[in-house]
Amino acid sequence: MKIFQMPDALANKIAAGEVVERPSSVVKELVENSIDAGSSWIKVELNEAGLEEIKIIDNGEGMAEDDVERAFLRHATSKIRNESDLFHVNTLGFRGEALASIASVSRLTIKTSQGDSAGTFLSLEGGVVKERGKSDARQGTEITVSDLFYNTPARLKYMKTLHTELGHITDLLNRLALSHPEVRFEATHNGKPLFRTPGTGDMLQVISQIYGMGVARKMLPIEGETLDFKISGYIAKPEITRASRNYISIILNGRYIKSIPLSQAIIRGYHTLLPIGRSPIAVIKIDMDPILVDVNVHPTKLEARFSKDKELFGLVEKLIQNTFRQTRLIPEIVQKPVEKPKQSFQHAFDFNKNNNMLKEMVDTTKQLDKFPSYKTENSPEHVMENILVEEIESNELEENVSDKREINDDILVVNEEIIPSRERVPTMYPIGQLHGTYILAQNENGFYMIDQHAAQERIKYEFFKKKLGRTSNEVQELLIPLTFEFSKQESIFIEHYKNELEKVGLFFEDFGNQTYIIRSYPNWFPKGFEEEVIREMIEQIMQDEKINVESIREEAAILMSCKRSIKANHYLNHDDMFRLLEDLRKTTDPFTCPHGRPIIIHFTTYELEKMFKRVM
Ligand code: ADP
Ligand code: MG
Repeated sequence: MKIFQMPDALANKIAAGEVVERPSSVVKELVENSIDAGSSWIKVELNEAGLEEIKIIDNGEGMAEDDVERAFLRHATSKIRNESDLFHVNTLGFRGEALASIASVSRLTIKTSQGDSAGTFLSLEGGVVKERGKSDARQGTEITVSDLFYNTPARLKYMKTLHTELGHITDLLNRLALSHPEVRFEATHNGKPLFRTPGTGDMLQVISQIYGMGVARKMLPIEGETLDFKISGYIAKPEITRASRNYISIILNGRYIKSIPLSQAIIRGYHTLLPIGRSPIAVIKIDMDPILVDVNVHPTKLEARFSKDKELFGLVEKLIQNTFRQTRLIPEIVQKPVEKPKQSFQHAFDFNKNNNMLKEMVDTTKQLDKFPSYKTENSPEHVMENILVEEIESNELEENVSDKREINDDILVVNEEIIPSRERVPTMYPIGQLHGTYILAQNENGFYMIDQHAAQERIKYEFFKKKLGRTSNEVQELLIPLTFEFSKQESIFIEHYKNELEKVGLFFEDFGNQTYIIRSYPNWFPKGFEEEVIREMIEQIMQDEKINVESIREEAAILMSCKRSIKANHYLNHDDMFRLLEDLRKTTDPFTCPHGRPIIIHFTTYELEKMFKRVM
């Protein structure tokens, strides 16, 4: 006989290789257990980035005495009992591997109590129980993990610097705190405070703890829902961006996950508002029936597979897009939010609460209005009435906008209707031009500086985009064919995707030596940019392994709008400036150019007065 069953200690150590990769994995498993135990407060104490000691204290439900030792057995869990449970998991853990694995590669002590009587104490070394006893009756659990990997020197060797390990732990704690704003987190390192959250349930407060007040102030809330998904969270205005996608956090049913397609959907939602190569800061919380998602793909459960993924990605993209269209995106010069000085008459009424009463009042005044002799144009009543009507109408408008998200059977319909741009940017009257580059303008709201090149890029981009979107797939025959030379890798892709390319109207004739000729191209190709567009297509195929004509057209529109726009150092007369500003107001996104740079900078009248100390 040569086959033996492994002793438990050995099996656990092997499992630990998967579950416990580094100190942050221990923190993750233990904190997730604390969250699963219903804790509202979790404290994490680290020494030497957790390699010396990790202590997690919680105020959760605790464990009964006879459960404690069982919890350290392999596949011991209180969270699922049968196969059907597996599809309805709403806890973070369920594999029953973590405690057994962690204990097998460390010295571990646990004190736990359900709060009604003395608690239980247990100490283990390399997974073997060394001591049993009683502990105090404080409800909750305290687990101390010391000398991690003391008995697996090979693993210990792979640890990076303390700095890196601590970085992993902080990143992890950030995500856990974002996923659970209702839990108060406190973390220390070598006795010094590392991180804390208030546990009020307000995600924005957690964001502020992690990214700072400055970022938190620039976050916009998003919210939406279909029959299958409920989405909420915060997205940063495009004026603050980051170089990496690490600032996008996705929380699915209370669990932090990684999902490249979802991150891409978020970025698509920003569309051209993001500068090229930059990523947003966003925290998106998705709740759905657990049956629609399989989180069981990876042992540490960071990746998820969705059913109805297209619907979900589309919803996220639309929600973000609509959020920006409904918001004023002109960066303001002074960071402090300025309260609009209230007009005195507003003090008399709370317009929201007394909306009905006000409506009645207005209705009666309207009635009275039918008798013109009743009052004169400038009577105080008349002024009051106009104000009331305006106020109520604008309240109604706002309500309508937020009610625009409708659920239509199974198909997701986020209503396309948006506030027209003209309502967001009032007419701006040019005062002059600065350095032949910036238009200076004013209106009742203050002073504006507009980058003329960026403004025209935005106008042209939207114009070309519409035009390119309409043209058909007819082809243009060439008298003199275009010749292309491609790299080896590119020509492999061209051969492989020949059919796809022909479908969009591109016929590559092999001329040998990685050279190809093209005798015709689709009619919609922008004149003068054929070569760029064709190269763009090849690049897209290499990256996405398919052609998306929509996005190629988009690229082409950006290309043309940029090349054909007035440059800086170009003098404009008053009429040119006025026309440019009016055209800009008519675009759907007047605030940023297709490359994501700002177009308008706004100084409000109040800020100007403040700068000159006319107001305090
Ligand atoms: P899993 O979380 O997958 O169930 P673990 O090995 O992480 O497996 O934990 C085993 C069991 O120990 C859990 O199912 C839970 O019942 C119990 N447990 C672990 N940590 C705590 C804690 N902090 N408070 C209360 N119970 C806990
Ligand atoms: Mg667990």
